[in-house]
Amino acid sequence: MRFTPSRLTHGLKSKTSLIREEKVVSNHRLKIVYIVGSGRSGSTVLDRMLGTLDGVVSMNEIYRFFPDGIESNDKCTCGHHFHDCKFWRSICESVDRNENELLHAASLYERFDHTKSLPSTVFHAKLGQRMADFNAYLDWLKRLYNAIAEQSKSEILIDSSKVPSRLYLLSQIPEFDVYAIHLVRDVRAVVTAWRRTRLNPATGEQFTKIAPGRVVSNWIARNLIAELIGRKIPYYMQNYEGLMENPVGRMNDLVAAIDPLKGKAIPFDDEGRLDFQPFHSIGGNPDRFQSGMTSFRTDDRWQKELPVALRRKVSLLAYPLLRRYGYRIS
Ligand SMILES: [Zn+2]
Repeated sequence: MRFTPSRLTHGLKSKTSLIREEKVVSNHRLKIVYIVGSGRSGSTVLDRMLGTLDGVVSMNEIYRFFPDGIESNDKCTCGHHFHDCKFWRSICESVDRNENELLHAASLYERFDHTKSLPSTVFHAKLGQRMADFNAYLDWLKRLYNAIAEQSKSEILIDSSKVPSRLYLLSQIPEFDVYAIHLVRDVRAVVTAWRRTRLNPATGEQFTKIAPGRVVSNWIARNLIAELIGRKIPYYMQNYEGLMENPVGRMNDLVAAIDPLKGKAIPFDDEGRLDFQPFHSIGGNPDRFQSGMTSFRTDDRWQKELPVALRRKVSLLAYPLLRRYGYRIS
């Protein structure tokens, strides 16, 4: 997707009113808990579970800022479209200080912030003298996440963008403390989820289905890259199935393992439910539009929905990683 100046400035106030000094959230370092992994891995529900903790805000997929927000003007979970949402308008004002800044950032997003461009991105990061464009994108990301923290009045952001490039880039910003939760889900369930027809309430259109071969290759690539990045930063692996089977136990483990979350009470009720409240999310699973007391259960529909022949092909292609993550091959 390419961005045009007209779309980038759609709905924004006059440029002269947008120029303002970057505000600093506080003297504390911003902490980002980033959920990395494949799409359709259950990251939205984990993101929202963590968002029930005191002082923590669930943002879902911040990565979708350009394509779903700036470009497509999708609906935010507050009910307003992106360019009409006060939360995102304020953030846009913070990160678009002059005529070309947002447009330039969009071009850098295309260049540095995709899984396929990760080798080149890492190369730029490793250069003794980093390229100006790479530094400019890091600086812009820094201002974007600080603006989100400032608007949400939170110093711990949950970002379930899942894309490894964004995790890597955030980990390169010295002023941020970044923690990775690598969420793994059985690739056969992921393939099945991408085959379903589902309405996207943010656009009013159906989600695009993705062919099984592409889903499997993406699942393998993202999980392997997540493990590699996890060697350099605080990292915790959790499988979606285990989280749904024992949400109280697994959430307690997770909170105990991630420094900024340690000691925080998880507000489960007596029935093991959590109260999900709507916020301002521009990307993620359609379930993010639902709020209220939420219970959790294992979703094993793939065992009935995925044709046997396709299940065998998928299992064969992903065999080493399925075994590595402890999934039974049937
Ligand atoms: Zn909103």
